[in-house]
Amino acid sequence: MIAKEFKTGRIIAGRLDFESDLLDSINQICEDKEIKAGFINIIGAIFNLKMGYFDQDSKEYVYLDDIKSSEPLEIASCTGNVSIRYGKPFAHLHIIGSDRDGNCFGGHLMPGTKIYAAEFCIQEILGEDLERELDPITKLPLWKK
Ligand code: ZN
Repeated sequence: MIAKEFKTGRIIAGRLDFESDLLDSINQICEDKEIKAGFINIIGAIFNLKMGYFDQDSKEYVYLDDIKSSEPLEIASCTGNVSIRYGKPFAHLHIIGSDRDGNCFGGHLMPGTKIYAAEFCIQEILGEDLERELDPITKLPLWKK
């Protein structure tokens, strides 16, 4: 288990650009603002949803490309965190997209998801380093002890 203590830092809120990549945009803001650790939430609307699912047997992400990727969707929820991976800020986000019938689809946000409109809030946390490294058991890039 890891349980580190942090203090609250800056809160950065804003709107992302039409047709930009959702994951890239958040990573760019974290890099520009030098946010090393924090929590992220986003609401809005997207198209070209790209999600992944981590297959615990094969220990690889599989793309969920066939799930609603061609439809415009609401971002019913998109939450995650930012920490350091390979020496720079790395956003880990999960997303739930909802269609015009209210059906929801969720997973690990992958590159390629395009923004129609998105409002974000990043809560920075300050304290010890929060850095990712490959975990030998899960084969996921998890937070270091
Ligand atoms: Zn994930």
